[in-house]
Amino acid sequence: YFIAPELFAESTVTIAGDDAHHLIRVMRAKAGDQVIVSDGVSREALVTITETGKDQVTADIVERLKLDREPAVEVWIAQSLPKGDKMELVIQKGTEIGAARFIPFVSERTVVQLDAKKEGKRVERWQKIAKEAAEQAHRNRVPAVDAPLSWKQLLQCAADADAAWICYEKQNGLQLKQEIQAALSVVSDESASIHSGAGADRSQSGGRQPRLMLIVGPEGGFSEQEVAAAEAAGCRSVSLGRRILRTETAAMVGLTCILYESGEMG
Ligand code: SAM
Repeated sequence: YFIAPELFAESTVTIAGDDAHHLIRVMRAKAGDQVIVSDGVSREALVTITETGKDQVTADIVERLKLDREPAVEVWIAQSLPKGDKMELVIQKGTEIGAARFIPFVSERTVVQLDAKKEGKRVERWQKIAKEAAEQAHRNRVPAVDAPLSWKQLLQCAADADAAWICYEKQNGLQLKQEIQAALSVVSDESASIHSGAGADRSQSGGRQPRLMLIVGPEGGFSEQEVAAAEAAGCRSVSLGRRILRTETAAMVGLTCILYESGEMG
C-alpha cells in the first residue's frame, strides 16, 4: 500500500523516490504484480505494475477504490516534546490508531531543548514516519505533523479546535468519556442547525469533521499555572483514570478513548 500525492494520471500511476526503492529493492516487485496506491487525499486504486526501472515504477490502474478508512472525527495530538525518540513512537502509533494531526510543543517542564538548525530535519523525519505508518495502516490520508510550537502558540492553536482537553493526572472530577460525548453532541447540533438554515451551503459547512484536541504533558507533567492558563484559554482539564501513565501512553489512551466514543474502533 503506497501513498504518493503526485502519482495519479488518468489511467496510469508512477511511483518514484523512497516508495519506488521500497517496491523494487525490498519487495522485489516485478511487472504483473499488483499493489494498492493512494494519493493521500481521496483517490485510491488497485494497479498492475508494468515496468520497474532503476528508481521508478510505472503501473496501470486496474480499478479505482473508494475505501474510506478515515475517522469521522479529527483528533489532534498536542504532545509536549518527550525525551529520546518517544515523539516518533507517538507519531507512529497515533497514525495507526487514527490521529489526524500531531502538534509537538514545549512547556515549562519539557526537558528536550529545541535546536533551530536541526528542527527542519526532525520535522521531516516525523513526517516520513507518519507517511510510513499511514501506509502500513492503509489510511487514506497522511496525518499532518507540525513544527514544534511554544506554549503560547499552542494555546492559540487550541482555539481552532471544537474542543480541547488538557490531560491532567491531578484532575479527578471531569471524565473524558462525558467530555467527548458532550463535544460531539454540540458539534452535531451546530452542523444540524447550519444545514437547516435558509440558504445554507452544504458543500461549505456540511460534513465538517469535528476537530478534537488532546494536550499531553511532558515526563514531569504540567504545572498548576499551565493548567489554569489552558483552562482560561478554553481548554478543559481531564483525567485519563487513576493511574499515572507515561506521557506517550497517555497520548495513545486519550486518542483511543476519543475514537472509541466516536464509534470508530469497530
Ligand atoms: N513520569 C512519567 C513519564 O515519565 O512519562 C509519567 C508522566 S505524566 C505526569 C505525563 C503526562 O501524561 C501528564 O502531563 C498528563 O498530560 C498525562 N497523564 C498521565 N497520566 C494521566 C492521567 N491519569 N490522567 C490525565 N493525564 C495523565
